[in-house]
Amino acid sequence: MIIDCHGHYTTAPAGLWEWRKLQLSSLKNSFTKPRISDQEIRDSLESAQLKIQGERGTNLTFFSPRAGSMEHHVGDEATSIAWSRECNDLIHRVCSLYPANFAPVCQLPQSTGVPPANCIPELERCVRELGFIGCNLNPDPSGGWWKEPPLTDRWWYPLYEKMVELDVPAMVHVSSSCNPAFHFTGAHYINADTTAFMQLVQGDLFKDFPTLRFVIPHGGGAVPYHWGRYRGLAQDMKKPLLKDHLLNNVYFDTCVYHKPGIELLLKVIPADNILFAAEVVGAVRGIDPETGQYYDDTRRYIDAIDWVSAADKQKIFEGNVRKVYPRFKAQVRGRTPGRGA
Ligand SMILES: [Zn+2]
Repeated sequence: MIIDCHGHYTTAPAGLWEWRKLQLSSLKNSFTKPRISDQEIRDSLESAQLKIQGERGTNLTFFSPRAGSMEHHVGDEATSIAWSRECNDLIHRVCSLYPANFAPVCQLPQSTGVPPANCIPELERCVRELGFIGCNLNPDPSGGWWKEPPLTDRWWYPLYEKMVELDVPAMVHVSSSCNPAFHFTGAHYINADTTAFMQLVQGDLFKDFPTLRFVIPHGGGAVPYHWGRYRGLAQDMKKPLLKDHLLNNVYFDTCVYHKPGIELLLKVIPADNILFAAEVVGAVRGIDPETGQYYDDTRRYIDAIDWVSAADKQKIFEGNVRKVYPRFKAQVRGRTPGRGA
């Protein structure tokens, strides 16, 4: 089985975006639900994510609301709570319509300057009532201005306590950038992946939370490429070796859109810490003229690497994902296999 741990509903029907527009243009907080039919949901997926699963031979995607639209910097806390509920409810509908193809991951109703503890009710609702298996945690709800304390600060601890209690991991994932200096998917995302990792190097978070788990997306940003820098910095800070300091709790996905990058990731980071992902339909949708293949067809790169053992590839494609997201295993009984190979 091939599980993609990182997909967003980037193709959500127009009704969702109409609701958002109405929310942001109105002072009222009482809205009807977005008007979206099951057929519209089917249409939005059959021609995109589901088609791609079939073409590329992947089975199931961990599916969350569009990351760039979380927009934790927009409006106030109430805006974020209402928007997150709608987005998460829509993901729940997707996963109910296609239980063999998608498993749900939630957006948290974060808001700039608001304690992350306030996200707990929505996390509990999603996990306990709707069967979600993980969440996306934004280290920078200000959208490119970095106003929150680092992820190792006690500011975040109540949320971590709840994640540990529920046994759900977080993918550390920013939203759009409102700082024009940072292109959102090209700079803000990769900066945030790198920044989050460095915050974890500097702190001792996993001494306090030995079972807390984070996935750093987009191949870990700049981290694998600069692994020697991070090892050296940790050494200078008198931290344990990174494998002991972080690698029982931190994982990297494979959203790196060329083979040399994937090879570097697989050479530097232990196979036990790598989770397969493609993030489709996502930031890079084109075909590489040098290869004639889609940039984001990450399975193809991994398949083509012959020095990684079959056992390690099985970990990357399935085993590690099940380990990091144990609630997936619990709810997977009764699923029929997805459309892929
Ligand atoms: Zn993403």
